[in-house]
Amino acid sequence: MRRLRIGIAAIVSVLLVACAATPRVTVPAGTVCDTDLFKVDDGFAGARRGDCDVLAENQVRLHIVREDDQVKNPSPWYAFKLTGDPSGTVRVTLDYGDWKHRYVPKISRDGKTWRVANEAMFQQPSENVLELTIKLLGEPVWIAGNPMILPADYEIRLRSLAHETDATLSVAGQSIEGLPIYRLESGADKNEVIFLTGHQHPPEIPGGYAMLEFLNTLYSETKLATEFRARFHIVSLPLLNPDGIIHGHWRHNLGSTDLNRDWGPFAQPETRVIEQTLDELDGQDKRVRMFMDFHSTKDNRFYTQSEPTNPAGFSAEWLKRSGERIGDDYPFVNDPRPTSPTPNGKNYMYKRYGIPSLTYEVGDETPLEANRNATRIFAEEFMRLWLETP
Ligand SMILES: [Zn+2]
Repeated sequence: MRRLRIGIAAIVSVLLVACAATPRVTVPAGTVCDTDLFKVDDGFAGARRGDCDVLAENQVRLHIVREDDQVKNPSPWYAFKLTGDPSGTVRVTLDYGDWKHRYVPKISRDGKTWRVANEAMFQQPSENVLELTIKLLGEPVWIAGNPMILPADYEIRLRSLAHETDATLSVAGQSIEGLPIYRLESGADKNEVIFLTGHQHPPEIPGGYAMLEFLNTLYSETKLATEFRARFHIVSLPLLNPDGIIHGHWRHNLGSTDLNRDWGPFAQPETRVIEQTLDELDGQDKRVRMFMDFHSTKDNRFYTQSEPTNPAGFSAEWLKRSGERIGDDYPFVNDPRPTSPTPNGKNYMYKRYGIPSLTYEVGDETPLEANRNATRIFAEEFMRLWLETP
């Protein structure tokens, strides 16, 4: 009898172990995945992709998958919403498959204000897995790789800039899915052009916040900004990949293309907007003087030219002056590189115009306030140096 009991106990424990790994049910992305205790919702713009496995009443596993098999950049993006029993503590496993964890989780209780998840909330049993333990507290909880900024948020910000300043907002073209590619500009009667773009890569949200803060500073009412706008035609296309953001992509547009490898071929509708805009400016005998493209990577970094530019040494001087004003909370490097055949924005614009042509990279985990504070200084020193430059 005793032997039988031990045998039953062994079988039960084997079954329990098997149950922990084997899903009770698997639900595709975009469908609510629920247990008796809680729900995982990813049916919203910007949400993650991949199946959800229900493992237990208080436990699910989310498969974090890329948008197509051509994606090579390790940017496993995730965003999902939890609701459920206010007394419940739940476990969510993010399974990145062959990819490595990249983004520290950010949490929001209202979908708008975000904070970095407390370290006690997550652990990493391996580089491909993140385990989250979350108290539900009776309110929805959003979890994402970064505070989300969606095409609708851009639209609100750009419309208010156009409403409150001398800038105008127009639709320069459309994404594959028909979303607007906005063009914000001012000083259309001026000859010298400053050309800005950003958000080609969907998860690179800190770069998006920097782009918006840079524009805010250029369009402020300070004497410096007013003088700057009196001299330059500022042309910005701040959001190039709205479809990628909406669909929770890691890298591509809906044409399975890295838009920042399509400057030159211009085979995608989103990048063709760039070509058309540049052709239009050239057709008006404008002088494009500087290009900047906002992104995010592991640290704060500016990819610049190691070759001569016109004006000479602009990027190095601008970044040196900015660095002298920016405190320790925003360390950054100027990373000059030779121009390569890679058809990205930086290389393309340097080859076409010989100008300072930059990739403005904000660190994945740079705090938003440090990002904004530094960006204001970069924008001020940018304007100051340009006004000193003939
Ligand atoms: Zn990027």
